[in-house]
Amino acid sequence: MIIFATPISKIIVFLINVIGITLIINVVLSNSVKKIVKMIFSTMSFLMFIWVDLAFLARIIEGNNNSVLFIRIAWSVTPMLFVLVYYFLIQYLNNFKGKIVLTSILLGLGGFFNIITLFSNTVISSTEFAGKVLIIHYGIFVWAFFGFVAILTMINFLILIKAYKKLKDDLEMRIRIRFLIIGLTIFFIANAVFNIFFPVFLGNFQVYEFGDYSLIIFMTIIAYALIRHRMFGVKVILALFVVVFLGAFLLLDTIFFTQDWIQRMTKLVIFGLYLPVGYLLVRSVINEIKQKEELQVLTEKLKKMDLMKNEFINMAAHELRAPLTAIKGFVSMILEGDTGEINPKTQEFLEDSKLSTDRMIRLVNNMLDVSRIEEGRIVYQDNNINLNEVVKSASSEFELEAKRKGLDFKVEVADGLSDYVFVDRDRIHEVVVNYLSNAIKYTEKGSVIVKIFNPADQVIRVEVIDSGMGIGKVEQQKLFSKFYRVEASAGKTIGTGLGLYISKLLIEHYGGKIGVESEYGEGSKFWFELPVRPKK
Ligand code: ADP
Repeated sequence: MIIFATPISKIIVFLINVIGITLIINVVLSNSVKKIVKMIFSTMSFLMFIWVDLAFLARIIEGNNNSVLFIRIAWSVTPMLFVLVYYFLIQYLNNFKGKIVLTSILLGLGGFFNIITLFSNTVISSTEFAGKVLIIHYGIFVWAFFGFVAILTMINFLILIKAYKKLKDDLEMRIRIRFLIIGLTIFFIANAVFNIFFPVFLGNFQVYEFGDYSLIIFMTIIAYALIRHRMFGVKVILALFVVVFLGAFLLLDTIFFTQDWIQRMTKLVIFGLYLPVGYLLVRSVINEIKQKEELQVLTEKLKKMDLMKNEFINMAAHELRAPLTAIKGFVSMILEGDTGEINPKTQEFLEDSKLSTDRMIRLVNNMLDVSRIEEGRIVYQDNNINLNEVVKSASSEFELEAKRKGLDFKVEVADGLSDYVFVDRDRIHEVVVNYLSNAIKYTEKGSVIVKIFNPADQVIRVEVIDSGMGIGKVEQQKLFSKFYRVEASAGKTIGTGLGLYISKLLIEHYGGKIGVESEYGEGSKFWFELPVRPKK
């Protein structure tokens, strides 16, 4: 017959059981926890249930015979639980080598205390109720019992601190160990205060139960250390908790609080129906999380491969640049007459080779630039730059190529334009070169015109207008993204789809704007604008 229990104790003990079951399921289902650790954790939880539930029952049940039995059972599992915490730690931290002897001694001692607590009056001699509070009378060995538990706790602290020091580089594991140390501290202090200090020294048994309750905090922290950042998220734990909570509630209600048999059967049927639903709910949440995990793994893999690809491109481009520059140098020397007179046909072929080499060097440079700009490794050497000059020098590099293609090639500088921009000359030169090489590459007949002027105060604008193939509206939107090439031209010309992307990155770096106006079949106008450097 139950005589007394405050609602708050009932709720706490109920919650401890529900949380305990939730934790076991979580740990047992987790992929990342070793089997032996799962077993230890489950056994620890089982002992926790015995400890907390029987100590609770001992406090609320009538008849001293019952209560002394219950409290002895509860106490008898305590030393074993502490031994298990030790065993858990050495397994979890992979630290069990050379600890066979110590483990055996501790197990033996744990068993010894277990037996004398359960079957003799040497640890707990008797109990009595003072009003509604259960008072425990201790036996002659109680200090040995406390001493054993205290020594074990110290050993556990030492193991944790040693592992913490040893795992200097494993930040993740260090966080887990720190949590375990905090958990063990809470558990130890709560036990020392509520289970020893208050009852033994002050004769106060009213707060006794809080020592037992602290166990669940420690168990939660252990579970957290086991599965943190791995398999399960808050969602699964919450779903599990709700399912276990409702299930336990239904069962308790059916067994203890329902007298009528018909009602009891009905509730049992409801419980029977509830079980598969709860199972399905939890399983679907777990599946969802698993899928998310797999996706994450795949994403990581992709990112890694992307990185490897970038590295490969970088390396290949780097290796190509040196021989290309050498070829260009030698061809230029021959063209300039360093090897003597050359006939016009040879000159024409060599000029063609030089143009092709230039194109390849540009391509390789773009490949090298793109990762440097993206990763912020590029060093900008900004200066006051006269944009006219940059445009003129870039244009001069393409005169020959335009002439070869029979294109009308013109540079139009607005009258009196003398504004400066504050940029890295080589980078902006690169942008103009990208525009011009595209305009000539994608124009078969007609003209390429370069314009530079002030569209507004404090803004300077460069336009490269061609009469080439033009670009459709849909494609224009993707033009400035990485690796994008218009399909119609991709097969016919060499290119990487990087030039415009890099140009956009660079112009935007300098607070400018970039864009295109075009109509399919009607030619294109590529433009960019930069803010003018204010005159001092
Ligand atoms: P690439 O020229 O190396 O392919 P870009 O980034 O410079 O790379 O250009 C991207 C794409 O934009 C080109 O593949 C081409 O289809 C299109 N494009 C660029 N400039 C022009 C132009 N002036 N006329 C027509 N299409 C162009």
